[in-house]
Amino acid sequence: MLLIDCPHCGPRSEHEFIGMGEAAERPAEPAALDDEAWGGYLYHRRNPDAPVLEHWWHVHGCRSWLQVQRDPHTQAIVACQPCQERP
Ligand SMILES: [Zn+2]
Repeated sequence: MLLIDCPHCGPRSEHEFIGMGEAAERPAEPAALDDEAWGGYLYHRRNPDAPVLEHWWHVHGCRSWLQVQRDPHTQAIVACQPCQERP
């Protein structure tokens, strides 16, 4: 079981969260993108072979959105902070 150390609630089971996948950088001007670029932002993720920054929602806890840096090989969480901050 994966434990996520929510900055508001402390360590909690992953079952209290919904993982929303890799945190993609939002385009500065979304209206300027064509359909292919917008679709790429919405649906295409890199799936890197290295620690990745993800969005997780503490839906059964404080309901905060978190940025979790997780190693996909070991499942180890390197960092966890509210979405307003960068790692
Ligand atoms: Zn929480």
